[in-house]
Amino acid sequence: SKSARQSAIEAITTYKPEAAPLNFVDTKPTDIFGCNVFNDRIMRERLPKSVYKALRKTIEFGERMDPAIADTVAAVMKDWAIEKGATHFTHIFYPLTGQTAEKHDSFLMPDGAGGVIAEFSGSMLIRGEPDASSFPSGGLRSTFEARGYTAWDVTSPAYIMENPNGTFLCIPTMFLSWTGVALDKKTPMLRSGQALNREAHRVLALFGEDTPLPIVSYAGLEQEYFCIDHNFNFARPDLQIAGRSLFGARPAKGQEFSDQYFGVIPQRVLSYMMEVERELYKLGVPVRTRHNEVAPSQYEIAPLFEVSNLAVDHNHIIMAKLRNVAKRYGLKCLLHEKPFAGVNGSGKHLNYSIGNAELGTLFDPGETPHANAKFLVFCAAMIRAVHKFGGLLRATVASASNDHRLGANEAPPAIMSIFLGDQLTEVFEAFRAGRVENAAGGRTGRALNLGVDTLPPLPADPGDRNRTSPVAFTGNRFEFRALGSSQSAAGSITALNTMMADSLGFAADWLEKELAQGKTFNQALESFISHVIDEHSAVIFNGDGYSEVWHKEAERRGLPNLRTTPEALAELTKPEVVNLYEKAGVLNRAELKARQEIYLEQYCKTVRTEANLVIRMANTIIYPAGMRYQGELAATAANMRAIGKDPKTVTLAEITSNLRLMQDACGQLEEVLAKADSLGYGFEAALSYREYVLPRMVEVRRYADMLEVRVADDLWALPNYQEILFGK
Ligand code: ADP
Ligand code: MG
Repeated sequence: SKSARQSAIEAITTYKPEAAPLNFVDTKPTDIFGCNVFNDRIMRERLPKSVYKALRKTIEFGERMDPAIADTVAAVMKDWAIEKGATHFTHIFYPLTGQTAEKHDSFLMPDGAGGVIAEFSGSMLIRGEPDASSFPSGGLRSTFEARGYTAWDVTSPAYIMENPNGTFLCIPTMFLSWTGVALDKKTPMLRSGQALNREAHRVLALFGEDTPLPIVSYAGLEQEYFCIDHNFNFARPDLQIAGRSLFGARPAKGQEFSDQYFGVIPQRVLSYMMEVERELYKLGVPVRTRHNEVAPSQYEIAPLFEVSNLAVDHNHIIMAKLRNVAKRYGLKCLLHEKPFAGVNGSGKHLNYSIGNAELGTLFDPGETPHANAKFLVFCAAMIRAVHKFGGLLRATVASASNDHRLGANEAPPAIMSIFLGDQLTEVFEAFRAGRVENAAGGRTGRALNLGVDTLPPLPADPGDRNRTSPVAFTGNRFEFRALGSSQSAAGSITALNTMMADSLGFAADWLEKELAQGKTFNQALESFISHVIDEHSAVIFNGDGYSEVWHKEAERRGLPNLRTTPEALAELTKPEVVNLYEKAGVLNRAELKARQEIYLEQYCKTVRTEANLVIRMANTIIYPAGMRYQGELAATAANMRAIGKDPKTVTLAEITSNLRLMQDACGQLEEVLAKADSLGYGFEAALSYREYVLPRMVEVRRYADMLEVRVADDLWALPNYQEILFGK
């Protein structure tokens, strides 16, 4: 009988596209962009003027919404959705599993006369009761208050999701308990935005800036992913269930030629990307960039940056579309952080900045001395934030799958540091040395003159890019590179907003105090920046983050190196983190503790699932292939002896020994797994999985991979790396 591997290869060689070609001439991207979004244009056209104005105030200025307008908005939204063919609506929310969740309800209600009418009231728009009690809540929902409810996020527009058999209306929401406890990732992110706005305004006020618009954070999320033929996915239980290969010998060719990176995109993948993008245009997601990434079969998609709440919602939509559309092209999109050993894994870069439409980004050095000075304060605040709360930032990207990337030489290390570039570093260093007058000036012709008294000139350009730093300044934003490809960016944005709020509050306090003591504004600024650089320059590092030297140096500087998820998650309940989040009104101790518990549980369950897969695949797929080949070799040896020849039995001996070693390792894996399983889901269990289960899995794999490169190819049932990564 044919193996799944053979069928997969056959299916690829006979692949014919099933999706009809897209036509961008008749359906222009400009015509369809945002056509499925209940956006500003639709609201202005359809809502009564007073309602529209009230809603804009909430969206733009964060003013509390008048519930009285909800009925009108709901009625208009419903009519619009039904015109678009929607039959159902759903409150989309983001539970702590990191996924999106939706429960659909029909618009239809019995009319009492045997028929139905479409109904959608203001209260149905504002609040949903999905129950959803099966989501992990980390003890936040005791049974008597077990119901969670969803609350409309007015700042992220509703949209229509199309499906071949119909469409439905999606309303972005928060997910809370009746007592107001955050059960999701969106609620704390929105709260952190408020804290950031508050403290940023205090600093800006000291600069004489009185902007009526809130200060927000912006996020540009670059998304990496793998895309393989879906038949290979079906033929590999590990890819299918765990999202990553738990076995697989290195192929003869990997990524060493750099021939994939920015190369010509294979036609099938390009067709797929174009349809993903078209779907995203309809949903108003401003996707802009597509390219091949470093590893074979790895790609990237990036939209333009947006207000971070919207950027995060859009990133969830991007991930959903990447997954769904792939099927139409016979492809499987892998968002796992490390689907294949030996080639790069996938991350998600978070380009982060702060500002508003009026002031632009506050991480932009700007062209006037005034702007330069403001920039230095915001930049200093970021330096302080990452130095004080690097551990928290690291915790926001902790997951079993991301552990395979962080610290391996392809992603930033687990040590949180900031890259500023040489020129900017020199400017900051000058404050410490008390030689502010002549800093950085002579270095290049590109320096900007700050002009204000003794403040030094600023570089117009950060200079070189550094790919090995987790937090890199890139001219007008910081790029946080440690996120995993499948993760929601909400956790990291929440942390960054909150940390920045804290540091900006600290800056405002400092400056206010100095001014009250009669210092000039420039003296106050200078003393603030000198202080930050005195206390926090240890977090600045412009060198090679992959090097062993840095790991030693970082340790000397006292920077934490939280290599794996369990130790990173411990940060979430450290007193300074609890204090930070509670002070800013973002999350309280119980909410943080719940998150820690839930993420630890996810870690344990992920490793456990993988370990079970390793055992099953080793026993039922790999062992039988090795044994069959062993039998063939033994028969051949016996035949040779029968005709009086001395058989060379080197391979037979190798196969025999590897089979035995694999079986032993499998037995040990079963033992340590049973031990870890018995420990529940807390720290002790997580450490047990990390210390004992993961290394045993690697060992089983080592013998299995040795078998793969020795056993006759026709007996090997699993598609190999070469086929998966290069077959399309
Ligand atoms: P690179 O690969 O060089 O990092 P890309 O163009 O792929 O650059 O992605 C950069 C991302 O950063 C885009 O999403 C872009 O919109 C975003 N970005 C640009 N300026 C800002 C900013 N001020 N704040 C946040 N994100 C930004
Ligand atoms: Mg980038």
